[in-house]
Amino acid sequence: MKFKRRGFLGGFNRFRLILTLGLAVLLPAAALIYVNFSQLRAIERDKGIEAIFNREFQEVLAITEKKINKKAYTMTEEARDLFPSPDADTQEKEKKLDLILAQKPWLSHAYLFDEKGFVFRSQPGLMGDKYFREEHDHMTESFHMWLAKEGKMQTETIHKRPRGISFSLIQVKRANGDAYLEGAMFVLPQTSTDRAVLGGVAYEGCYLKGILFQDILDETVNQKSTDQGGNRLAMMIYPADMEMGKEIKPLAVSPGGWGEGKPEVSRKFDDVFRGLALGIKFQGTSVEAIGQTWVHRSFLILACLSLVIVGGLVLTKHIVSKEMALARLKSDFVSNVSHELRTPLALIRLYAETLELGRITTKEKKQEYYRIIRKESERLTALINNILDFSRIEAGHKEYEFRQTDIADLVRNTLDSYRYQIEQQGFAFEESIDPDLPPVRVDREAIARALVNLVNNALKYSADEKFLGVKLYRGNGAVKLEVVDHGIGITRRDQSKIFEKFYRTEVPLVHNTKGSGLGLSLVRHITQAHGGEVAVESTPGKGSKFTLSLPLASATQQPAT
Ligand code: ADP
Repeated sequence: MKFKRRGFLGGFNRFRLILTLGLAVLLPAAALIYVNFSQLRAIERDKGIEAIFNREFQEVLAITEKKINKKAYTMTEEARDLFPSPDADTQEKEKKLDLILAQKPWLSHAYLFDEKGFVFRSQPGLMGDKYFREEHDHMTESFHMWLAKEGKMQTETIHKRPRGISFSLIQVKRANGDAYLEGAMFVLPQTSTDRAVLGGVAYEGCYLKGILFQDILDETVNQKSTDQGGNRLAMMIYPADMEMGKEIKPLAVSPGGWGEGKPEVSRKFDDVFRGLALGIKFQGTSVEAIGQTWVHRSFLILACLSLVIVGGLVLTKHIVSKEMALARLKSDFVSNVSHELRTPLALIRLYAETLELGRITTKEKKQEYYRIIRKESERLTALINNILDFSRIEAGHKEYEFRQTDIADLVRNTLDSYRYQIEQQGFAFEESIDPDLPPVRVDREAIARALVNLVNNALKYSADEKFLGVKLYRGNGAVKLEVVDHGIGITRRDQSKIFEKFYRTEVPLVHNTKGSGLGLSLVRHITQAHGGEVAVESTPGKGSKFTLSLPLASATQQPAT
């Protein structure tokens, strides 16, 4: 009945523990792992990292275009500020335009148109190139004709443009191949809006890189690379009409070069350099590779963390189960000890009352009753001593008093007081004490208690074959005390546990025998305090042998614990 109830309570606690672990820890942990895992899968599937980089790249390109435009407008305004007045005479105009071309060698042409005439000047240094000369002649004529017709309308249109400037990219030829010119046509701010006056300059394509693009690409790439750390960016400016699949010939490239491959993101110039495009990518790697590495690394971290969580849970369950088992052992202990206290007390009371009534007349009977009372009170004392010792050990207050002792004498005396009881219970008793043992420094009371505990166990846990053997001898630099029985024995699994406090095996005979589960844990503590150790050899059904080894050398100088 008693065990049934305990079993039910144990089961209930276990159920509660599993429920708590499941609901409060396992479920949230599993949910967390699952959510993270599916988020990572979604990022991997939707190429989330790639999307973030692409957005960032688009932003960088937009800002770069804005910077390049701003610079182009400023440079053009600087040239325009040097322009002659439309009212100056032709000679004056030519002189001023030539001066501008001399100051700004990246300009190939400069011209000024008004209702009265047209002046078109070209960079003298470039006139050696046949194509350039042709271009000069052609433009002088065609521009003049075109502006004579459209000048008025163009002026009106350009007046409406931001800052009064209009840009256009022109494809031209040079001695070393195809080239670009960036033309800027503008109105002169100081002239009245109803006059048809237009000025213009053309930027020589091969100069554009140095004066307009390079600084801005350098600055952007350096700044972004330090901002982001890690991978360096590569940027380039190239003709927007480059056919797909054809190798791109960039006009300008950021420091470190472009390397292999196509741009991750590109942007066509919209205003000033319409016809050109900006491209961006990482140097030496691709956004896809970065995204994949990131996702793989995240999966790996998640897997490691999940393992740690699972490991933690297993450990927690293990610890809690152990604590619960200890709690159960403690409650067993309380009921066992109360039971063990009650029995001798009841016997003492019974025999004392019988004696008191004076009904016992024979001397022998009286002697037997007195002996029983003494024996039971000794059992009580032994039990209480065990409990007191145990609580001192648990509190760390147990002290040992080591003294030079004739250990053979100590063992013999201790056994003497049990000899009668041993034989009374029908045990064959063999005692073998080596006569030439040296004196050993031990705590006499403690060693006697260890021996009594071992002897008591041998008596308690023997069923059919009742044999007790105690042997004291010298071996391997130690004094060995052996207690042997032919009792029920102990399984290998239990052999490692019986020295733990409160532990009792699940064998029926043990259940039916009184005990606190403290004896062997005390034996172990006492032996270790003497610098020695206790070992057990046992075969279930055949018997057990407990051996205490007290080292001769260290036992003599063992301090009190
Ligand atoms: P108690 O005897 O009070 O239960 P112990 O600490 O002395 O506590 O022993 C712990 C357990 O080890 C016992 O409950 C018993 O199951 C087992 N045991 C100890 N000595 C023997 C023995 N000589 N033979 C068989 N089992 C033993």
